[in-house]
Amino acid sequence: METKRCPFCGGTMVRGKSMKHGYAVYFWKKPWSGILGGVVLAYPWLCLNCGALIPFVERSELMKIRDEFERKRLTNP
Ligand SMILES: [Zn+2]
Repeated sequence: METKRCPFCGGTMVRGKSMKHGYAVYFWKKPWSGILGGVVLAYPWLCLNCGALIPFVERSELMKIRDEFERKRLTNP
């Protein structure tokens, strides 16, 4: 089981089962996307110490979104 440290309390976070089922799909859409698409998938993580439930985007996907954001910011400020 994958775990990470909670950014709020330093407790143990456990990764949810899926980033593609249920409401996990609707956490965040790219603000520069059209009506369709732009959905960014993120695994929900639950902290077993403080109960925080946070979706985290995988690092490789995050790098792609950051590049896209930087390009958009340069073309339409
Ligand atoms: Zn916590």
